[in-house]
Amino acid sequence: MTAARIAANLASVRDRMADAARRSGRRADDVTLVAVTKYAQIDQVLALLDAGCRDLGESRPQELWHKADELDKLRADSDVRWHLVGPLQRNKARRTLPYVSLIHSVESWRLLEAIDRLASERGRPTAVLLEANVSGEAAKHGFAPEELPPLVDRLPALAHVHVRGLMTIAGLSGVADEARREFARLRKLRDEMRARTSGASPERVAFEELSMGMSGDFEIAIEEGATLVRVGSALFE
Ligand SMILES: *Cc1c(COP(=O)(O)O)cnc(C)c1O
Repeated sequence: MTAARIAANLASVRDRMADAARRSGRRADDVTLVAVTKYAQIDQVLALLDAGCRDLGESRPQELWHKADELDKLRADSDVRWHLVGPLQRNKARRTLPYVSLIHSVESWRLLEAIDRLASERGRPTAVLLEANVSGEAAKHGFAPEELPPLVDRLPALAHVHVRGLMTIAGLSGVADEARREFARLRKLRDEMRARTSGASPERVAFEELSMGMSGDFEIAIEEGATLVRVGSALFE
């Protein structure tokens, strides 16, 4: 795949994002594209950077460390923001924190505590989203919706974790209406958690972000309020 092809794919995804943002009464730059690079070679990632993409995502921590280190060697001056979008095992958290600007996929209180402790050691807060399983599929990661309120009530105890919102992956059905219902459900949950934490320090807990939508459903997700979409294959095919 040539650099020109990747730039064209990126332009096409951005156009589709802008149209969907307009349909939801928002501006194109209200929605951030996180380019998921798990299918890409490093030269393809460079092509994305050259085409103006700054937010990159990986679903596996080791792959994120590896690509970030490679990019650092090739483009020390690039101002990339790395997003971890897949599961983080607690024993990989220490190594991962210095790389990431946002962890989308926090799915346990124990992981939150581990991140809090490590962020405290580093002297820098870590920004996270809480992953919610709104499809109810057993194979999906994330908190069940009813687990969130009691968990969110405990967040003020974590001084070094900045909770920025919610993330989900739509169910496997591939049915557009189904995905739309799930995205709407995540938005409603986000709004409920925002109301619930309205007295909290906005520095530390602010339910603003909604990470939802992938190559097959990012336009629907944006129409339903996504602020971050995670797109991989549409950029690299
Ligand atoms: C791979 C992946 C994506 C991107 O998927 P595409 O369908 O290729 O766009 C988004 N989110 C997560 C969590 C992923 O693992």
